[in-house]
Amino acid sequence: MRYFTYNAATIYNKTMLAESQDTFNLVSARYPVRLTDYYAGLIKQPDDAIWKQCMPDARELEDHSQCPDPLDEKALSPVPGLIHRYPDRVVMLVSNRCPVYCRFCMRKRLVGSGDAPMGEDALLTALEYIAAHPTIHDVILSGGDPLMLDDESLSKVLTGLRAIPHVAVIRIGTRVPVTLPSRITTDLCTLLKKFHPLYINTHFNHPEEITADSAAACTLLADAGIPLGNQTVLLKGVNDSVEIMRDLMTGLLALRVKPYYLHQMDLVQGTAHFRTPVRTGLEIIRGLRGHISGLAVPHYVIDLPGGKGKVAILPDDVEIRGTTLLLRTYTGERVTYQDITDPQG
Ligand SMILES: *Cc1c(COP(=O)(O)O)cnc(C)c1O
Ligand code: SF4
Repeated sequence: MRYFTYNAATIYNKTMLAESQDTFNLVSARYPVRLTDYYAGLIKQPDDAIWKQCMPDARELEDHSQCPDPLDEKALSPVPGLIHRYPDRVVMLVSNRCPVYCRFCMRKRLVGSGDAPMGEDALLTALEYIAAHPTIHDVILSGGDPLMLDDESLSKVLTGLRAIPHVAVIRIGTRVPVTLPSRITTDLCTLLKKFHPLYINTHFNHPEEITADSAAACTLLADAGIPLGNQTVLLKGVNDSVEIMRDLMTGLLALRVKPYYLHQMDLVQGTAHFRTPVRTGLEIIRGLRGHISGLAVPHYVIDLPGGKGKVAILPDDVEIRGTTLLLRTYTGERVTYQDITDPQG
């Protein structure tokens, strides 16, 4: 299976880049550039929300304060390609390719680095590790993008996982419905549904990514009985407003995609220009909660440096004074709530 993607030189020639070709070449030599015909077609003008997510920027090379692997994923890898941070679930990096290399990627250190996707040996070692750890109930396929594997390779991975009795749930994290929706075929769905319970978390960041094509891809997956979630990264100049986030989250819900996480930008080298203050994320959550369907409100999470894990944070809407709670409603009204006296307390 081959999909048409642009390489860096073609992208440069097809676009009206403000950067010089030298800058473009320097950035793409350090951090690969790749784009699909489909995703490039969503760009309406230079520097719009789609452009910023996929076009190289000189600032990627100017970020020296942040670290290539702030989440310490390497240290948490007991065997190559596997991240084991929480006792009951692991992440398997089954591919290091993606249809589009997002400029803000948290795995910027790895994606597109030219190595083969997890080879046969690494796959077997990872499966052996999971089989030897009965506390692991949830395996998350990630990368890169797992759906860059062809159907046969993907089937091999999933079959291997399903042969392990204690693996209850399989999840796939993929941006393919957003960047290469034609990869979601009926054949792929027929394959995936053999491995239920299988969840997919996709990755929409902007309402303009919701198109007839991406909607059709989500419909195919949902009709295969695959529960769909979405992880959005909060990106400066792309989606850092309440209005954009309301459109995005309600738009996703209408596609049967449940907004799962809103991620604060990780402190990954080369991505600093996308970072917003945490206050922005909290204001967005405050602008969603109560204003739109509760089903459409994601958890806002910070993935802590050093591999300490994700912490969900909320706007400060509760003040506790003994057994009296002073609560702030979505309209801003202050209301008291009387708690019971805790018999243990
Ligand atoms: C995010 C993540 C998970 C999954 O966390 P959930 O909160 O269950 O979605 C698991 N392992 C690692 C290393 C992660 O970064
Ligand atoms: S699709 Fe995901 S893994 Fe691939 S470049 Fe984008 S953010 Fe990174």
